[in-house]
Amino acid sequence: MQLANKIGTLLPWRNALLLFLWLAVWALGLLVEYAPHASVWFPVAGLTCAAMLVVGIRAVPAILIAAVIITFWTALHYDIDMSNRQLIEAGLLFGIAHIFPYYLGAVTLRKLSAVSKYNLPLFVVSFLVLAVGCSLLATAAVLSSLVFTGLMPAADVASTWLPFWIGDMAGVVVIAPMFASILLYVFPERKFNIHLVIGIHSKLASHHFKYKLSLTIVMLLVAMLIARYSGSSESAFAIFFLVIPHMWIACTETPFITVVSLALTSFLIALLVNLFGLMDNVMVYQFAINVIAANALFGLAVPALVASNNQLRLVASTDTLTRVASRSYLQQRADLEITRSLQQSEPLCLMVFDIDHFKQINDHYGHSIGDEVLRLACQHAQHLLRPADIIGRYGGDEFVVVLPNTAKEAVVAIGNRIIERLLQIELAEQLKVSASFGVAALQQGDNFRSLFERADAALYRAKQQGRSQVAWH
Ligand code: GH3
Ligand code: MG
Repeated sequence: MQLANKIGTLLPWRNALLLFLWLAVWALGLLVEYAPHASVWFPVAGLTCAAMLVVGIRAVPAILIAAVIITFWTALHYDIDMSNRQLIEAGLLFGIAHIFPYYLGAVTLRKLSAVSKYNLPLFVVSFLVLAVGCSLLATAAVLSSLVFTGLMPAADVASTWLPFWIGDMAGVVVIAPMFASILLYVFPERKFNIHLVIGIHSKLASHHFKYKLSLTIVMLLVAMLIARYSGSSESAFAIFFLVIPHMWIACTETPFITVVSLALTSFLIALLVNLFGLMDNVMVYQFAINVIAANALFGLAVPALVASNNQLRLVASTDTLTRVASRSYLQQRADLEITRSLQQSEPLCLMVFDIDHFKQINDHYGHSIGDEVLRLACQHAQHLLRPADIIGRYGGDEFVVVLPNTAKEAVVAIGNRIIERLLQIELAEQLKVSASFGVAALQQGDNFRSLFERADAALYRAKQQGRSQVAWH
């Protein structure tokens, strides 16, 4: 009871959760145990690695206790005759040998990420290289500890070290990213936030994910069934085709969905290897899942790039204050529409408008009212335009509208309607908002510049003639 209380104070609920999770994940690894102590799919290595990265040294007691519990279970399972004290010592030594390499790897990865300013491809390559090195170090340390404490005969090392290493590596490469994502939510005072590298995305899958997942499962089943029934050991290599759905997922889904899919695939491979009796080819499956996961982790950069490209495109094409097209986007669209209208001999008009006495509005009512006038003027104008018309901010209080397929008379009428609407704006006492408009129709041989110059000249005349009116060329 006293011991339970002590453990309770040492292990707040989060660490207790980590301990149970570690034991549960260990049990999953037994599915593909290759030889005593050598599971070729060792997912706890991924959990330990993620815990060292996200939680740091505070996760050590939970994992050490779990290692001791597992040592007792192993002694029972393999009929090893050792005293409780010897088993506790052996368990602690095994725990330290298992944890320390991943602790070193996690510290290095955290430092590298900070130095490289959380650059995703560099993070992925550092993670993969560290996964190879740390799992090899863990293999050497754990096998030495097992031999030293008598849990494993020294003669078994030669046949065990390779599957042991590949199993740990697969656990880290395939499972650690998912646990690093999950532990973030369990441990609020985390040492490392993986979102800094992969960006914050929703955890939800797209509604097409079910097709991607189905394709993964079908390909996996087909590959494993071929391996089982063809009688050819080379057919195990069919598992490499799984790279197709995994790259599809990595390029189109959120990073969380990608890492969960990888973990799920590796679990299904382990399960089917066991069910179909494919242990002879298990190393092929292990190499495959490592390679597929490494590919998919690099693929994580694609959705992040697409998202920032979309963001950039939006920023570049929209005026932040008024939300109408930016000058450069308007010019691009106007060029296209002008070329198309000239080719198809269709009418097109350009309308330029400028708020009247805008400087005075700013001076009397302040810049924020001035900004609101610009926003409202655009909103009202947009309501009176058709979806095919393109309105953009040309600069300051001057706006340009491209009206494809519209005759000059109709554009003058639209300009007058916008003037009426602007005059109804009631933003501040005695504030009257009006604008002057210049309209020009497209002629053969025109380009944006020549058309704009004629519309701007008409606008100048509208200002000269007393403002709040439409003039045309
Ligand atoms: P006019 O009737 O001849 O057009 O006179 P005006 O006072 O409107 O003169 P002009 O068009 O040259 O004035 C443009 C002013 O718009 C000058 C500048 O301070 C102001 N301005 C430009 N961009 C912004 C903005 O984003 N917000 C606000 N509040 N003012 C702006
Ligand atoms: Mg003005």
